[in-house]
Amino acid sequence: MEVARTRHELRALLARHPRPHGLVPTMGWLHDGHRSLIGRSVAECSSTVVTIFVNPLQFGDPSDLERYPRDEARDLAVCEAEGADLVFAPPVEEVYRPGFQTSVRLGSLAAPLEGAARPGHLEGVATVVAILLNLIGAERAYFGQKDAQQLLIVRRMALDLAIPTLVVGCPIVRAPDGLALSSRNVHLSPTERAAAPVLRRALLAACRRWESGEHSAAVLRSAMAGTLAEESLASVDYLSCADAETLEELERVDRPALLSLAVRFGRTRLIDNEQLSPTMEMAPIETPRS
Ligand code: AMP
Repeated sequence: MEVARTRHELRALLARHPRPHGLVPTMGWLHDGHRSLIGRSVAECSSTVVTIFVNPLQFGDPSDLERYPRDEARDLAVCEAEGADLVFAPPVEEVYRPGFQTSVRLGSLAAPLEGAARPGHLEGVATVVAILLNLIGAERAYFGQKDAQQLLIVRRMALDLAIPTLVVGCPIVRAPDGLALSSRNVHLSPTERAAAPVLRRALLAACRRWESGEHSAAVLRSAMAGTLAEESLASVDYLSCADAETLEELERVDRPALLSLAVRFGRTRLIDNEQLSPTMEMAPIETPRS
């Protein structure tokens, strides 16, 4: 496995690896969620490129950027073990060149949820992803469903800006107690970590209501709120039951929907989500006339 630090090195190394190329963009502190993305790319592509870059543009709060966990030596060992061929781990100035001033402006998909809670965050994500997609020119790029809004936005951006990379969404990887793996979980205290699976329980409570025939989005949101209220360490940022394609809040779940939530435990903010896909209404069976 090779490591590129500059655009120049990256270009030279990419040319030596067979296509199709698969790209896995990450901010490092790699866990089994990242591993699953790398594994999928290795299975589907002839060469896999992992990027490790903590993107300052997507952090509103400088102290959040400062305390983002980093361990490059360990991350490189994970990439190697998973079969990655190339890692691009650049310094900030290789991604944002001196005088940098151009960014991606997003539309309505970025207005709710993370967009409302963290102004500028999704534009920062879209901008760095556009730069990485252009620098690497991979045939496929792998993103986690864990960041469902990000996945929708990246997919939309690739279409809108004619970026010829197929955006592949991958399932959420969870700890045995249901907590979605996240680099931020490392900041949870032992009591917060023990409380954090309440996110999953809240989603499952709403899923159960929906599976038993409940179509009111308000009822599903209150099922999530009710479960979260049982956990005193959890402070809810948002709870949503939205159209899975437009992210507009629903009144009735009569089309594919995304249940999502953001919850704080002390200074650590966690997100999780679940898709609801109403099965097609059964067509009435015609009785043959005799
Ligand atoms: P990050 O390093 O947090 O920016 O994440 C890099 C990629 O890994 C993103 O596409 C995330 O959606 C994805 N990812 C993060 N956590 C998980 C997880 N638990 N399961 C699946 N994918 C994940």
